[in-house]
Amino acid sequence: MYEAELSAGLEGVRAAARVCRAVQQRLVTAETLEKKDKSPVTVADFASQAIVCQRLEAAFPSDALVGEEGSAELRDGSQTELCDAVVREVAAEVSGAPGASAVLDWIDRGAADGSTARYWTLDPIDGTKGFLRGEQYAVALGLLEEGEVKLGLLGCPNLPDGSGGQGALFAAVRGGGARAYSLWDEGDTTGTAIRVSDITDTRAARFCESVESAHSNQEEAGEIARQLGMTQEPFRIDSQCKYASVARADASIYLRMPTRADYREKIWDHAAGMIVVEEAGGRVTDVNGNDLDFGHGRTLDENRGIVATCGPIHDRVIEVVRAVRGAAS
Ligand code: AMP
Ligand code: MG
Repeated sequence: MYEAELSAGLEGVRAAARVCRAVQQRLVTAETLEKKDKSPVTVADFASQAIVCQRLEAAFPSDALVGEEGSAELRDGSQTELCDAVVREVAAEVSGAPGASAVLDWIDRGAADGSTARYWTLDPIDGTKGFLRGEQYAVALGLLEEGEVKLGLLGCPNLPDGSGGQGALFAAVRGGGARAYSLWDEGDTTGTAIRVSDITDTRAARFCESVESAHSNQEEAGEIARQLGMTQEPFRIDSQCKYASVARADASIYLRMPTRADYREKIWDHAAGMIVVEEAGGRVTDVNGNDLDFGHGRTLDENRGIVATCGPIHDRVIEVVRAVRGAAS
C-alpha cells in the first residue's frame, strides 16, 4: 500500500536533504552564526520546499500540499539575491535548468489549507534553529487522507545512522511498520524495520525535548521526569528528530510541554513524526492524553503540546503530566 507515494516521498526527501546538507556546510559559517544571520536557512527552506513539491507534482499532479513556506517574500521583487540563490540550489536537484518562475510555482504548490480529503504536509526544514547552529534538523513530509496520517517520512541529515555515519531517513506507512533507510544511498529501497524501546518502567526511561525553551516548558518537563523517577539527563534535540529518537529507541519519551496557552501546534511539525513513532510500536497523544486531531487544517486546534512514548508507559506518563500541569495552573 502507498508504494508509489512512498517512492516519490523517498525521492523528494532525499533530494531536499542533499540540498539542505550542502547549504548548511557551505553557508552556515562562524560569520553567519556570529551575526545571527538567518539567510542560509531561508535559502535552504525555500529550496527544500520547491524540490519536494516538484517531485510530488511529477508523481501526483492533482495532490494538494500544506507547506510551511509561501513564495510571497520571493515574489515582491526586493529579494532578487535570495531568489537567485534559491533557484541555484534547486537547479542542483531538478534537471532542465528551471528558472525563477517555475521554482516559485513549486513553492506555492504548498499553499493548500488542508480542506481537501487528501493532502501532503511538509516542513521543508523543521528545526531551523538547529540548522543555524550546525546541529539537528529534519525534512518532514506526511500524507493525510480523511484526517488520518497514512504515510510519513523524516530526513535527518545530521542524525547518526547507527553505524558510524551521519544522516538518517525514516518512513512509515499506516499498518506497514516503520523503517530506517540510508539517507544518501538511493539504492536502499527496502530499509530495515525499527522498533521503540521495550522498557515498561519509567525509571528506566530517558526523555527528549526541544533545545529551545520557548518551544517546550523544560522546567515542567523536569518536574514530570522527577515524579516518574527518571534519573537520566534530558536529551535535547531540535526538530522531529525527537520522534525519530523515540521510534528507534534512543529515547523512550518525547515531551513537548506548552509554553503559551494560545499556541497551536502546526500539522507539519507532527504528522510525519507521529506515524513513524506509532508504526514503530509507540504511542502519541497531546498532553491531556487525547489523540492528535488532524481535521482542522494547518493547525492541531484541539490539541495542546505532545507526549510520545514507547507505549506501555504512556498512561502513567500522561497521569503525571496532567498532575504537574494541574498543579501549575
Ligand atoms: P523544535 O525543534 O522541536 O523546538 O520545534 C521547532 C518547531 O517549533 C518549529 O517548526 C515551530 O513551528 C514550532 N514552534 C514555534 N513556536 C512554538 C511554541 N511557542 N511552542 C511550540 N512550538 C513552537
Ligand atoms: Mg517545524
